[in-house]
Amino acid sequence: MPFSTLGLCPALVRAVSERGYLAPTAIQSAAIPAILQGQDVLGSADTGSGKTAAFVLPLLQRFHDTPRERPRQARVLMLVPTRELAAQIGESVRTLAQHMSEPVKVSVVFGGVSINPQMMGLRGGTDIVVATPGRLLDLVDHNALKLSQVATLVLDEADRLIDLGFAEELSRILALLPIQRQNLLFSATLPPAIQGLAHDMLQAPVRIDVPSELQTQPDITQRAIEVDANRRTQLLRHLIQQHAWERTLVFVATKFATEIVADKLRKAGIDAEPFHGQLSQGKRTQVLADFKASHIQVVVATDVAARGIDIAQLPVVVNYDLPRSADDYTHRIGRTGRAGASGLAVNFISADTEAHFRLIEKRQHIHVAREQIAGFEPTAVPASPGNSPHAPGNGGIKGKRPSKKDKLRQAAARQ
Ligand code: AMP
Repeated sequence: MPFSTLGLCPALVRAVSERGYLAPTAIQSAAIPAILQGQDVLGSADTGSGKTAAFVLPLLQRFHDTPRERPRQARVLMLVPTRELAAQIGESVRTLAQHMSEPVKVSVVFGGVSINPQMMGLRGGTDIVVATPGRLLDLVDHNALKLSQVATLVLDEADRLIDLGFAEELSRILALLPIQRQNLLFSATLPPAIQGLAHDMLQAPVRIDVPSELQTQPDITQRAIEVDANRRTQLLRHLIQQHAWERTLVFVATKFATEIVADKLRKAGIDAEPFHGQLSQGKRTQVLADFKASHIQVVVATDVAARGIDIAQLPVVVNYDLPRSADDYTHRIGRTGRAGASGLAVNFISADTEAHFRLIEKRQHIHVAREQIAGFEPTAVPASPGNSPHAPGNGGIKGKRPSKKDKLRQAAARQ
């Protein structure tokens, strides 16, 4: 089914074809007609499904169909959890709206940067506001923005909004919006908090479930390499150099680790930059832009980077530290193999993390064969070998007691 049959004006159809979209994705085919009809939507869909265009296109179509009065007042509010996602959605709106005869103004506002330019930007009114919750409320408090004309509210990555502790801000914002409005709620997962929110906020929503990226994009090769924790940086260097990986996103657990690992890679002659929530907004934007433009080969990031960031054709993601949850695993490895491209997700598994990785596999209904790389074979074995079917030396059978040889190996590893 081509885009032209979805009820979009030629200016929007032209913009999608210039973006290289040949046909709507599943969520776009389902959401665009429903949103055009003014229905509420509950979309369980993740980044990578094409969900941004699924809500942006019909909302732009509504601007095309409805005459606007001046000064403009925000008619669409898109609430998102992170600055990066806000910037990215703002960018999508601008590109998709570029051929519309009457320009649509989009204002992207988020914290961590000075509020003044954002206040100036809102002077003279706006059509669409893409915002993180805290800064939105600040702007309302400064009388820089009124929400009384908002006809459509989009909550994107709603689960993340709640996870990041925005529930209170969200309630305050909801209270500022007109009661009569269209609500579109998108969330990668639907935990009870989101179901409650959906129940309170949505009226007879059209429910759209798009399977997670792992199922829709089987083109992600997953590898699990066993390595001692203290040799991971060396192994990473080895893999990057041996396979000439061009753009690699490496996930670590802490801000500190992003700096250390990036620094070690740089010392080995690999262009690497840390990326975490405590960098200035300017620096974060710069690192992402350089990475997208292939000026940086490796970005070493905390989970801040795992959600929402769209870097087309990212070939490799490495879990240097494993993610805390199976959902985070999906988000992390979903940064590769996007929109039809194939990707590689590499997990470093050490004795301490073997059991945790098995939990992730169980939750994801996957099994990734363990490998070892010559020269980097682990010497340590999992802390509780009886629980580890993949521990070196126990024959790969769950529950099998370690042999005498295993015990000797374990003793050697402990020294
Ligand atoms: P999203 O899920 O909105 O973050 O989109 C993920 C990626 O898919 C982005 O790079 C989009 O530009 C791309 N995309 C969105 N819709 C389509 C489509 N219909 N065909 C091909 N790529 C698309």
